[in-house]
Amino acid sequence: MNYTLFVGDLHLSADRPDILSAFHQFLSQDVTQCDALYILGDLFEVWVGDDIAEPFAQELAERLKQFSVHTPIYFIHGNRDFLLGKAYAEHSGMTLLPEVYCLDLYGQPSVLLHGDSLCTLDKAYQRFRRFRNMSWAKFIYNHLPRSKRIAIADKLRSKSKQSNQLKSYSIMDVEPCAVAQLMAQTGAKRMIHGHTHRPDIHPLANNGQRIVVGDWYEQGSVLKVSPEQVSLQSLPFNEADA
Ligand code: MN
Repeated sequence: MNYTLFVGDLHLSADRPDILSAFHQFLSQDVTQCDALYILGDLFEVWVGDDIAEPFAQELAERLKQFSVHTPIYFIHGNRDFLLGKAYAEHSGMTLLPEVYCLDLYGQPSVLLHGDSLCTLDKAYQRFRRFRNMSWAKFIYNHLPRSKRIAIADKLRSKSKQSNQLKSYSIMDVEPCAVAQLMAQTGAKRMIHGHTHRPDIHPLANNGQRIVVGDWYEQGSVLKVSPEQVSLQSLPFNEADA
């Protein structure tokens, strides 16, 4: 029986070797029946440029590349790794998808996204999101000197290290109106996203379904969809490490 896997919000960083090793383990499973792996954003805690990827990310690229030889990997950007570019994607064998991606999943019209665009109540963040998506903002950032971008990276990393000590993450939840609107726009029956770190399967109107993949902070979270069933599984780190 064939199936498709979905993960998101791994927030990989050099500070969390346990998450990294769980993900490496995940990539080593038998996937002969797996049609595809979708990574729904925030694979990395911080991403500031393909040319200044940390060693753990370079190693991971090799591992992803091996995986992609037998099973295609698709990637949607998250708010943490929206700067992940073509060079890293190519190196790791991942196909970059647009921020909202529609597909037919075993006969079910489905829409995939990271999920941050649905948290419309967070006005300040939505403003930043509009700004960062402007091509000139990206252009300017990408043309900053390398030393400047490394300084920004260091700042972001130490900031995320501090906030990691206080986490679990609490993020505003999606807005039901934004969900309904996107379902109507895309004609999808099923929506799959991450970002909120609230793994769940929510029924929607007209037999619709909204599935949220969980973060990989205290355990892994994997969604497995086959023609017959949908299952949202958690993946204990120690077990994955064993
Ligand atoms: Mn996110």
